[in-house]
Order: sequence, then C-alpha cells, then structure tokens
Amino acid sequence: SLSIGIVGLPNVGKSTLFNALTKSANALAANYPFATIEPNVGIVGVPDDRLATLAEIFGSAKILPAKVEFVDIAGLVKGASEGQGRGNQFLANIRDTDAICQVIRVFSDPDVTHVDGEISPRRDIETINTELIMADLQTVEKAIPRLQKEARTNKDKKGALDAAEAALKVLETGKTIFESRLAELDRAELRDLHLLTAKPFLYVFNLDADELVDTALRAQLSELVAPAEAVFLDAKIESELVELSDEEALELLQSVGQEESGLSQLARVGFETLGLQTYLTAGPKETRAWTIRKGATAPEAAGVIHTDFQRGFIKAEVVSFDDLVAVGSIANARSAGKARIEGKDYVMRDGDVVEFRFNV
Ligand code: GDP
Repeated sequence: SLSIGIVGLPNVGKSTLFNALTKSANALAANYPFATIEPNVGIVGVPDDRLATLAEIFGSAKILPAKVEFVDIAGLVKGASEGQGRGNQFLANIRDTDAICQVIRVFSDPDVTHVDGEISPRRDIETINTELIMADLQTVEKAIPRLQKEARTNKDKKGALDAAEAALKVLETGKTIFESRLAELDRAELRDLHLLTAKPFLYVFNLDADELVDTALRAQLSELVAPAEAVFLDAKIESELVELSDEEALELLQSVGQEESGLSQLARVGFETLGLQTYLTAGPKETRAWTIRKGATAPEAAGVIHTDFQRGFIKAEVVSFDDLVAVGSIANARSAGKARIEGKDYVMRDGDVVEFRFNV
C-alpha cells in the first residue's frame, strides 16, 4: 500500500507526533487484520461521516474507515545528501515512500533548543528542501551521460533524456520538481529516476496551542508552502488526544478552538495528496471504506477487496451515497431506479456504495 514518509529536523516534535500516530495504529489494529505493525509505521483512519450513516441504515456491527500509512524517516540533518549522519540510509528510506510530509517547528519553547538557533519555519523548509534537491541533482547528473549514450542508439530514450535535462535546470535553480510548473518537464519520463522532490509534498506545522487559532499566522505559513497542503497541529496535544476517550478528546480540542484532531486532518490531507479516493460497502457485518486510486475502474476497485473479485468481475450494483440516504435502503433505491448496474469500464466515483457480482 502507499505510504507517506515523515521527515523533519531534530527537535521539531517529530517523535512526539509519531508516537501519537503509532498509538492510533494500535487502536485501529483492534478492527483491522494487520499482519504486523512495524515500529516505524503509524496508521490513521481517514475520518468520513458517511460511514456512521451507512452503518445505521445497514445495521452494521462495525465501521472500518480508510487508512493512511506514515513511515518515520529518521536522520535528516544538514549534509544528509553528502552522507552526513546516516544520510545514505535516510535517502534510501525516503525513496521508498509515495509522498513526503515535512514536520516544521513553529512552537517556541525556550527549553527545547533549535539545531540552527532561533525558530524559522522558512529557513527549516529551505534546509530540508536543499538536502532533497542536492540528492536529486546527484541522481540526475549521474543519469544524463548514461541517457545521452542510450539515446544515440535508441530513439525511445530521447524523451527520458530531455526530461532529465529539464529536471536538471529546475533543480539547479534550487526548486523542487514538485513545485516546478514547467511544461517541458515530462513527469512520466522522469519516473525511472525515482527523484525525491518529484513526490508530492505536504507540511505539518507544529504550533503552540494558542497559535492554533491564529488565522493570520496559518495563512502566512500556508502561503509559504503552496501549492502543497498544510496541516496545523500541536504535537503535544495530539499525543494527549490519543490517550483520551472520545468525549474527553472533544473537550480538549474545543478548549484550544479546534473541531477535529490534527491526526484526522493529517489523514485526510495525506489521502488527498496520495491521489486516493474511496468507495463504500455496507452490510450487517461491517460498513467499510475501501481505498482506490483516483480514476480506478470497477474491476480494479473489486480487486482491492480480493484479487478473485477482479478476475471474476461480472458487474457492480452502484448507488450513490446521497441517493441511498434520500430513499433509506437499497431496496428502495432499486425500486426508485437509483441502483445502477455498471460494467467493467465504469470509473468509480467518490461516494459510490457498491455491491460486486463476480464468478469464482
Ligand atoms: P524530534 O527530535 O523532532 O523527534 O522532537 P521530539 O518529538 O523529541 O520533541 C523535542 C522536544 O520538544 C521534546 O521535549 C518535546 O516534548 C517537545 N515538543 C514537541 N512538540 C512540541 C510542541 O508542540 N510544543 C512544545 N512546547 N514542545 C514540544
């Protein structure tokens, strides 16, 4: 499954946040048959109000939300791209992830020293991006002579060479591939290079509790990282929230002017950043959100439940969530003509409530 790597400079609250993510994974594990949860993996459920509504309609015994996996990528220090610290391991680990989440310190606790002196989100983002850009520069500079040689005998390699040269130009100006909007940058042609800065980015700003409601500060930080998404949280509060009952957690959130935990926001934004969407199934046993890529077809969606479902796919009966809620049951949806029979070319839409028919 897809995962998001969490990176950050030392002392920014990364372990504190990760600890909360790990506790969340253990809580979810009660419902999900996870094989084993690795110590450096945290999992959060993606909040979705529709699930409770469906569970009520179908009398489901349990609810299983979609989930997002985060991997703790330790070892980001200045010079990591030149092998400083455990730089090489750091780069190898981050290469395996599908998106990069940077944790940035904004909280100003004088008892927690900053590796570079005073607190500066802008400088920290630059430090991290510089390491990632330098690593990509090395990759691209090594690839270009090889691609030039290959392109001489194989015309099909010309696209990859052009893309690598365009990427080199972007990186040399100190920009990430992610933020670059160059038309000539053919991302598909770059895929084989596994560039770090070509992955989608998202940002977690670790604030002091009283800064959570500072809309001017939030707007300023959002602007700093656009077009990447930003999540604002207080890692200390998140680590407390995972220890509390739902009621107590809500009370704590309200006391700092929030409606939803930072982890929930992170799950939602992470899911979106990975280019994922869900479809829904419901029955007496469970109501469940299944994760698919945006643009997945009905058989691909069935394959997420079981590979046999994809292989033996016949058709899907689909009712959109809003239609289902309006009429109150699948039987009513059928008689109202709201249950659609879709074939193998159907592209799944957000909010589809589905039952697959298949041969075994
Ligand atoms: P890491 O080095 O990035 O993993 O940072 P840690 O999670 O170990 O945090 C470093 C120190 O900062 C610890 O003493 C944490 O308790 C503290 N810390 C983490 N997050 C916050 C926060 O949001 N506010 C405050 N005041 N302290 C925090």
